[in-house]
Formats: sequence, C-alpha cells, structure tokens
Amino acid sequence: MSKKDIVSQLVDKYRDDIVKINDTVWEYAEPGMKEYKTAAFYEDFFKEKGFNVKSALADMPTAFIAEWGEGAPVVGFLGEFDALPTLSQKAACAVKTPIVEGAYGHGCGHNSLGAGAAGAALAFRDYLEENGLKGTVRFYGCPGEEYGSGKVFMARAGLYDDLDVCLTWHPGKFNRVSTTSSLANISVMFSFRGVSAHAAGNPHLGRSALDAVELMNVGVNYLREHIIPEARVHYAYVNAGGIAPNVVHDFAKIHYFIRAPKMYQAQEIFERVKDVAEGAAKMTGTTHTVELKEAIFDYNPNRTLEKVMQEAFEEIGAPKFDQADFDLAKEFRKSFTKGDLEDVKSSLINSGMDPDLISEDDVLHTGVLPYVPLNKAMPGSTDVGDASYCAPTAQIGVVTEALGTPGHSWQVTAQSRSSIAYKGTITAAKVMALAAVKAAFDPEILKKAKEELVKSTGGKYVSAVPPEIKPNV
Ligand SMILES: [Zn+2]
Repeated sequence: MSKKDIVSQLVDKYRDDIVKINDTVWEYAEPGMKEYKTAAFYEDFFKEKGFNVKSALADMPTAFIAEWGEGAPVVGFLGEFDALPTLSQKAACAVKTPIVEGAYGHGCGHNSLGAGAAGAALAFRDYLEENGLKGTVRFYGCPGEEYGSGKVFMARAGLYDDLDVCLTWHPGKFNRVSTTSSLANISVMFSFRGVSAHAAGNPHLGRSALDAVELMNVGVNYLREHIIPEARVHYAYVNAGGIAPNVVHDFAKIHYFIRAPKMYQAQEIFERVKDVAEGAAKMTGTTHTVELKEAIFDYNPNRTLEKVMQEAFEEIGAPKFDQADFDLAKEFRKSFTKGDLEDVKSSLINSGMDPDLISEDDVLHTGVLPYVPLNKAMPGSTDVGDASYCAPTAQIGVVTEALGTPGHSWQVTAQSRSSIAYKGTITAAKVMALAAVKAAFDPEILKKAKEELVKSTGGKYVSAVPPEIKPNV
C-alpha cells in the first residue's frame, strides 16, 4: 500500500473524533485567551488517546501541548480554537440567524482548524507506532489567534525550538499551499496625561490629553507618505478623554497597529511613531507613556516544506463534495455581494495565478491550485509568523466554505459546522499527516528545510516582545 493510502486510512479511522472536535469547539465558541472549556476538552481528548499533556504553558491558562513518542524527528501540528465576537450563527443555515444575538461564533473556522490538526497528529502517531519508528509528535494548543497572539508567547518560551517540521492549515475557499508571507505587526498603546480645567472659565490652566492624541494622529498621517508603501499604520481611540465638551480632558489613550513586511521595518517605523507621540506631548504640555502590547513576526515561508505539502496535497486530492454540498454552497452564495465574488479572482491574481483557474459559476473550489512561490507579503498578520521563525513551517488552505464567502462573517460560522467543513477538515488532516510522513523520515528534506530556516532568520529568533510583557489573558 502507498504511503498516501496508509495515511488516508489512518485519518479515516478518526473521522468521528474529528467531527466531534469540530462540532464541540464550534458550540463552545470561546473568546481568544479564554478558551477554557475548549482547552479542557482537547486536553482530555488527547489524554484518552495516550498523549502526555502539558497545560497552562507560557503564562496562558489555555495554551497546551499534547505529545507522544520520544526523540527525533520532532513533528508539530499547530491547532487554533478561538472564536470571534458578534458572529453567532445557526449551523449550515444560509440566512443570518444568530443563536444568541451578539454572542461569539466561529467566524474564522478555528473549530475546524484545531480539529484537522488534531486528526493529523493522531494519524502521524499511528504511523510511527504501526511502523515501529522513533519520533515525537506534538499537537500545539495555541490560544488567542484573533486576540492575544498565543503563539508569540509560546515561541518566546522556546516551545517550538526543537521542531524539525511544523505544519498547520487554515480553513477557507481554496485548496492551496500558502506561499506568501504576512506582515509583522506591532500593537502598542499611547496614553497622554494633562491637566483638567473648566474649558470656558480657565482653559489656560488646562493641558489637553485629547489635543495630544489628535496632534499625534495628524503627525502620523504626515508620516505615512514617508514610510515604505507596504507598511500599514492603523489607530483606534481607546479613551478620547470624556463626553463633556466643557472640560479640558486630562487623559486620552490611543491604540496603534504598525505593520510592515519584516519585523525590523515595523520596529523602525515604531521608533518614528514614538517620536511623533513625543512631539505631540511637547506641543500640548502633556506627558505620555508607551505600552507595547504584542509584536507578531512576519510569516517566514519554507519552500522545502511547501513543496512537500504540495506533493502531498496533489496525491490526497481536493475534498470530494456531493450534490448536497454544492446545493448548500449555492444557498450561501445568495448572501454574498458582487465584491465578495470578485474577490475570488483578485485572490488568484494576487497569488500569481491565472484568474480563469476557477470559473465564475463555480460555487466550491474542487481542484488543488498549482504551486507558485511568491516573495510578497499578504496585507494581514498571523501569529504563525513567530512559530515560522523558530522552526521550518508550512501551511495549507483547504476548502471548508463556498467561493466568495467573506472572511470573519456569520457565513463562515454557519459553514464551519457543515458537511462542507467536515470534508475539508478531514482532507487537511490527510495532507498534513502525509506531508509529515514524507518530510520527517527523509534526512535530505529535513536538512534542506533547516538550512533554509537558518538562512532566512540568521539562525536565531529573538521575540520582539520583551520578557516583562505578559500575555493578555
Ligand atoms: Zn483564522
């Protein structure tokens, strides 16, 4: 029997477990860093399957590792499981119907993400066991991808350092190996303190913190023309000082995201934004503090492992959808805007592919996209970035939703618990397990993947988050 058939059968054996994880975590739908029920469920599940579980890692109650085996090669599968606010939605229902209005829902499909990674870990463990092979397999329970960036703190604690192979996936619209990078992101708060006063009677005695924040934003708006065009600087008022126009506000706070293709670029821009903040404080006679919250590395692609993932994906093939799946996808399509549907073509073009690879009438992607390595950063950030600086890492996207489904939406929540998602999640488990089998026992591949990591990172990862900063739990 081929490796592909062996791995396929091993994953199929866990079909019911994978679906159960998918649905249970979907129901829990817990916020980032507060995935208490979810983490407990996973930990019990892995203990029952004979794994050793280490809980509450890196100062995060919901971060854990489930491990089996010993020695090299060490293979890790990254699992995420946090949900998003306001995206509660009835399963497989194509009309917006929240279960609880305003509640959390799995609008990024992380319930499936963790379930697929767990399936891959179990199948890879069985492969080791059945073939009497030495090695270690780990499932990483990574909390707070959407909020809190759990992997950044797990990376800072050195938890990915000894991995030979690190694999993950994301549920989505396409079957593809991810070949693009993502943006490094620095999340930082600026707080200004002034002196309050009667705004009409004694304005000369007041020093306005709100003025400082406004001047800081004006300064950063001018700065934007003079930074690299790929960078993104966003802000949100966290505290605008108060609701009374007749008071000089003595406190104001603003939250900035500073993104760039590489961490050093984001850090350079951060220094300039700090200068602007200092200028704003001087202009207004206020004082200010800078509080770094998180700093996420850009994603560092590993071409060696990507090629292994592509080969595995082509062997396993795309998820096989039936008529009921196509009918359901058609129902969801009715809720998409013209822009959502046009985004399918733009995604292909941005990935360096022929936009006609997928027809406008297709409701589900049914092929596997070709391998096109690209040296460019997608305009978003992921905490997989920090893991990818510690260990050779590769990720795939697998179809769990209709073409045109908007990201972070109630439509994602709905489809994340449907037969479409089950098929995609099981396919993801198979591709990752097969890629792990192919890479972990081929010394040439392991050596090349490691060399590539060292070349791209200089051989060492230093977290951009200083040790005194604790996770936001
Ligand atoms: Zn996500």
